[in-house]
This record gives sequence, structure tokens and C-alpha cells, in this order.
Amino acid sequence: MQSEDPDLPDRLRLSFDLDVDIAVVGAGLAGLTVALEAARLGASVAVLEGRHVGWNASGHQLGTVMPGYGVAIGDLIARIGLEDTRELWALSKEGAEHVRALASEESIPGIARSEGALELSNVDVGDQVIARLQMLGEDLETEVEGWQVDRVRAEIKTDRYFHGVYYPKAFQIDGRKYVHGLAALARRAGARIFEDTPVVSIDPSGIRKRIVTPSARLRASHIVLAGNIHLGAPSRRLSETLLPVWRYAGVTAPLGERLAEVMSFKGSVSDTHGIDHFRIIEGDRLMWASPETTWAARPERLAGAIQRRIGTIFPKLGRVEIAEVWGGATGQTVHGMPQIGQLRKGLWVASGFGRHGLNTTAMAGQLIARSILWGDERWRLFSPFELVWAGGAIGRIAGYGIGMWSRASAGAAGALARYRERAHVKERIRDTRLAEANRQAGTRPPPSRPTPGKPRVPVPANREGKGAS
Ligand SMILES: Cc1cc2nc3c(=O)[nH]c(=O)nc-3n(C[C@H](O)[C@H](O)[C@H](O)COP(=O)(O)OP(=O)(O)OC[C@H]3O[C@@H](n4cnc5c(N)ncnc54)[C@H](O)[C@@H]3O)c2cc1C
Repeated sequence: MQSEDPDLPDRLRLSFDLDVDIAVVGAGLAGLTVALEAARLGASVAVLEGRHVGWNASGHQLGTVMPGYGVAIGDLIARIGLEDTRELWALSKEGAEHVRALASEESIPGIARSEGALELSNVDVGDQVIARLQMLGEDLETEVEGWQVDRVRAEIKTDRYFHGVYYPKAFQIDGRKYVHGLAALARRAGARIFEDTPVVSIDPSGIRKRIVTPSARLRASHIVLAGNIHLGAPSRRLSETLLPVWRYAGVTAPLGERLAEVMSFKGSVSDTHGIDHFRIIEGDRLMWASPETTWAARPERLAGAIQRRIGTIFPKLGRVEIAEVWGGATGQTVHGMPQIGQLRKGLWVASGFGRHGLNTTAMAGQLIARSILWGDERWRLFSPFELVWAGGAIGRIAGYGIGMWSRASAGAAGALARYRERAHVKERIRDTRLAEANRQAGTRPPPSRPTPGKPRVPVPANREGKGAS
């Protein structure tokens, strides 16, 4: 079938019976990385995709590649301890580096890689930033820098953000180009990708496992289920362990010179409460993630919400035109960690990557392919994170309620932090005036009072040697 995009190869549907070593269900980032790795290691591989390559989240993401998972580090340590957290974190870094190795201009032309990501706090909590820097830098051996409020605001001119953690090794790529680039690399390595080929059932018993599609059958020694929330009939129970959360993103029309007046930072920006995620693309446009839903909304309907968020963070920009909006469904697990591993002999799962899918799908692809072909057992580090039922329709409603509540409370915390900051500035002016009046009157100034609720904790100098503000 002819592809809708003239730059992409024609789609091939599976219309004949086939025998392979490894059958992969789903041609998203997870399925394609397994296929690429396994084909490179010499296996015969077939990928079966119900729609087309990158049809869902994988073809509609923002392209930010960072280490880690969609779960707070502290929660991870509480669950599995520091040693195992370190190992899992190291795997997540390997995943990011694997994407970097694949996403070069030579292998994926137009990938538009740019470096660095900032994670900003929307509340004024310098002490927590220090703890996070120590955790990331010392415990998890990740290169990070602490940015003072002044430095953050010199590059991102808004009073919405306070301190920041800068990841110099994080990077971003053109997400759509990446998924199609992966497919091209997998094909070149010998994997066969069949689109418009939904898997309707699987029989995982026996040494040779069977797969049924509408017009052909396939036999394989290993089946990898990488269908994310759309897997459906082949394993309903597996689908039900994921809470579908739709994410959307939009791109503004070119903003010209006015964008440079509010933002000079060239990498990705996200906040610690998971509200905003944005970056500059093509020199003078903003790419921005919108609020999430637990139902599939038409992406265009989210344009207004994106426009409002941009107005809230950068009021100086004035009204911006949203040129394009897109979206996709991510699969969230109950524990927040991806599902990677062997369900029974020869039946594998790679899903539940949530909003942190670029590095983690790359990691999963390597772990599974290497386990099948080399006996690498490191996927077992994910064993503590079992398949837990995500609550069906009631879980979705509860998930949406919790999401709305956490956005609202994060917004309130941000407003309180900005109020405190303004109060602190006023108090400093008052103290200076008082000191000046005392000096003129020849009396000693009173000791300054700490601002209520504002911890006076210095932020450490960053690696460029900048001191605390
Ligand atoms: C707006 C948005 C922004 C994002 N930004 C980032 C980001 O900046 N950084 C980051 O790390 N992550 C980001 N993510 C998350 C990331 O995109 C996902 O975690 C990742 O794409 C999940 O990949 P996947 O292969 O598991 O799933 P999918 O992309 O859902 O792929 C699964 C595929 O399986 C197919 N399939 C399902 N069932 C069957 C079946 N029975 N038969 C045949 N085929 C089947 C589907 O058609 C689909 O194509 C973002 C996501 C969205 C939506």
C-alpha cells in the first residue's frame, strides 16, 4: 500500500505465512528497537504493526532524551533500595546513549539533534534542589549542574521558575524522524516490517509460538509484545495493566525576534511538577506539551490550552498562533516503571514507558534482544515491578482526577512561591531603607529576620564555578 508520506517507503502488509526467530507486535519505539537490535545480532525478525510505523505516541512525541524513568528517584529507592536503583538508573543512561549513537545525521538525516535539558522548579525550594543535585551527581553518577534563579531567569525570562537542574548530556531530536529512521535502520539490518497487519491472537504455548493476523499466520520462537495500550485481543490482561494517558503537543507559528527576547536557552525545558515541557525549534518557534487527558480528545481542541500555558509562562510574547497540534496515548503503569521482561518462556513484554519513552524503549530493546540472543539477564532488574491491574474505566477516571489535582496543587504552590519571592524583595528593600535610616541617625541596624517559610539555604556553585546568588 502506498504511504501517505512520499518520503516514506510503501507499506507492506503480511499476506503470506511466515516463520521467523522473533516476532514483534507493534512498530512503535519499543518494537522497532527490539527489532533493530535482534536483527543486528543475527536473528530473523518480523514486526507486525496494526496501523503504520509510529502511528501512536512514538510518532508524536517531543524528542527529549533524558536519563531516568517516569517515577521519582526517592520512590524508586524506597521500593528497591539504592544499589538496585543505581543499576536501573545506569541502564536508563545507557538507553539515552544508545539513542544518541543511533540518532546521528549520517544514519538519520534531518534528525536535528541539540544538546542540554533544564528541569526547573516552579517553587522556591533551594534545599530540595541541592538534595536532588547530590542524589543525581553523587549517588547516580549523572552529570548535572545546579542553576541559580538569576541564571535560570537570564535564559528563560519568566518569574514562574526558580532554581534549575541542568543536564548537559541530555539532548533532543526530531521525534518523528527518529521513529522512521529506526524503522529504516531495522529494515537495513534485515528485519521485515509489515504494516496494516493487526495481530488478532497469539498462542504462546510450545516451542514454536503462533500468531494470527487477518490474512496470514506466523510462527516464531519468541514473541515480543510491544503494542502499548492498543495491544487488545492478543493479551487483554496485559492491556489492562496500563492506564492510557493521552498527551498532546503543539507548535507555534514562527515568532520572529520576540521569542529571543523571552528565551535564549536552546535545549528542552520541563518543570519538576510535570506541568510544562517545551523548547525552541526551527530557530523561532515554540514546541509545547499540553495538559493530558484520560480519553482520546481531538488534538486541535487542546490548541487553546497550549496557547494559555504559553501566555502564562511568557506573558511578554502576547498572543501566539498555534500552527499545529498532535497527540498520542502513553501507557502508564501503576508503579510508574516500564514493563520489561519475559512473561513465560519465549513470550516477552516491552511496554508501559509512559512519558519517558525515548531512553527507556532503547534500553528495553537492547535488554530483550540481548537476553534472547546472548542470555543477558539484566532485564530481571525490572522483576520487582510486576504487572498490576490498572483499574479499568474507574482507574481512568481516578487517574484523571489525580492528574487534575496535582496540576492544580502544583499551580497553587507556584503562586505561593512567587508571592513569597515578591514579599522577600519588598522586605529586602525595607531592610535596606531601615539600615540607611539607622546609619544616618548613627544607630546600629537591627538583625535581619528570616522571611517566614523561606529557607535560607545557599545553592552550591555549579560546575562552571558560578557562586550562589
Ligand atoms: C505528546 C507526547 C510527547 C512525548 N514526549 C516525549 C519526550 O519528549 N521524551 C520521551 O522520552 N518520551 C516522550 N513521550 C513518550 C513516548 O512517546 C512513549 O513512551 C513511547 O513512544 C512509547 O512507545 P511504544 O512503542 O511503547 O508505544 P506506541 O508508540 O504506542 O507503539 C505501539 C504500536 O503497537 C501497535 N499495536 C498495538 N497493538 C497491536 C496489535 N494487536 N497488532 C499490531 N500492532 C499493534 C500500535 O498500532 C502502535 O503503533 C511523549 C509522548 C507523547 C504522546
